Amino acid sequence: MVIVLKPKAEEREVEKIKRKMEDLGCETHESQGENYRLLGLVGDTSRIDPDLIEANRNVEKLIIVQEPFKKAHRLFRPEDTIVQIGDRTIGGRKLAVIAGPCSVESEEQIVGIAEEVKDAGGTFLRGGAFKPRTSPYSFQGLREEGLELLKLARAKTGLPIVTELMSPDLVEKFVEDVDVIQIGARNMQNFDLLKEVGKTDKPILLKRGMSATIEELLMAAEYIMSEGNEKIVLCERGVRTFEKYTRNTLDLSAIPAIKKLSHLPVIVDPSHAAGLWWMVEPLAKAAIAVGADGLMIEVHNDPDNAKCDGKQSIKPERFKSLMSTLKKIAPIVNREL
Ligand code: PEP
Ligand code: MN
Repeated sequence: MVIVLKPKAEEREVEKIKRKMEDLGCETHESQGENYRLLGLVGDTSRIDPDLIEANRNVEKLIIVQEPFKKAHRLFRPEDTIVQIGDRTIGGRKLAVIAGPCSVESEEQIVGIAEEVKDAGGTFLRGGAFKPRTSPYSFQGLREEGLELLKLARAKTGLPIVTELMSPDLVEKFVEDVDVIQIGARNMQNFDLLKEVGKTDKPILLKRGMSATIEELLMAAEYIMSEGNEKIVLCERGVRTFEKYTRNTLDLSAIPAIKKLSHLPVIVDPSHAAGLWWMVEPLAKAAIAVGADGLMIEVHNDPDNAKCDGKQSIKPERFKSLMSTLKKIAPIVNREL
C-alpha cells in the first residue's frame, strides 16, 4: 500500500499515521515527490482498513498494490490446492463432475438419478435438500428428509454428496451427513455462515454471488480460511448483467483470473449460469477448455415435471453423451476425466 499525503499534510498528523501503521505491524518508508509526499507500507497490510486511511483529512489517496486476500492468494501458496474428499479430489489433473437434480424430490428420483450419474462417470452427486428459493411460496426442499435420501443415494452408489447449507444452526448436522457443504450464491456474503463453516474441516463449495466481483468471491473464501478451513472449491455460476436471454451471464474469464490470483480450485456451473438446458453442453465444454477444475451440472430424469429448475436440467442420456465429449476434450487441456 502507498499512502499519498496531501501537500499540506500536518507533520503531527503524518507522525500519527506512521505510528498507527507501525502498530499494525507494517514498516513505513517515506519519500518526497515533486508535489506529493508518499508513505509506502511494507509487510502484512491485511489488518489495515483502507476506509480508515482514506477518511483521514491529510490523505489524498491510497494506492493498493496487493489484493486484500492473503490465505487465498497464490503468492501465499504458489502450487495448486487439491481438495481431498474421501478417495476423490477436486483440483489437480483429474476433473470433477458434480451432477444431480436441483432438488431432492423422492427416493426413487434421487437414487435413480444418482445411478445414472455414476454410470456416466460423474464423480459427485448434487441435490438440494434446503432450497434458497426467490419466492417463499415455491418448493422449499424436503429439508431433513432430503438429507436422508441423499445419504441413501450415496450408500447405493458410493458417490459423495454435495448439498447446500443455508443456516448456521445446521452446520453440525451437515458436517455429520454430507461430504461437501455448498454455500450458495445468495449466501456468498453471509459472513456468519462463512465463519461457522470455517470452523469445520469439511470441504466447502463456495459459489460466486450473482453480483459479486472476483475479489469479493476470494474475500468470501478468505473468511472461511481465516477460521482455519482451507478446503475450499470455488464455483463460477454466472453473474447478473443487462442480458436477459440467459438467466445469468457465464463469466468464463473468471476462471483464468482466479487461477492467476488464487491457488484454490474452481469449477463452473453452466446450468445456473444459462438457465437453459440446451446451453449446458456448449458452456460445459468451454469451461473445461478455459481451465476449470470441474463442473456442476443439473441432471433430472423428468425435467418437465421437476420441482425446481427443470428448464435448465439435462436428462441422464444427454449427461452421458456430454461426459463422453468432455472425455475427449480433457486430454487437450492436459486433464483427465
Ligand atoms: C444450486 O446450486 O442449487 C443453487 C441454488 O445455485 P446458486 O446458489 O448458484 O444459485
Ligand atoms: Mn437449481
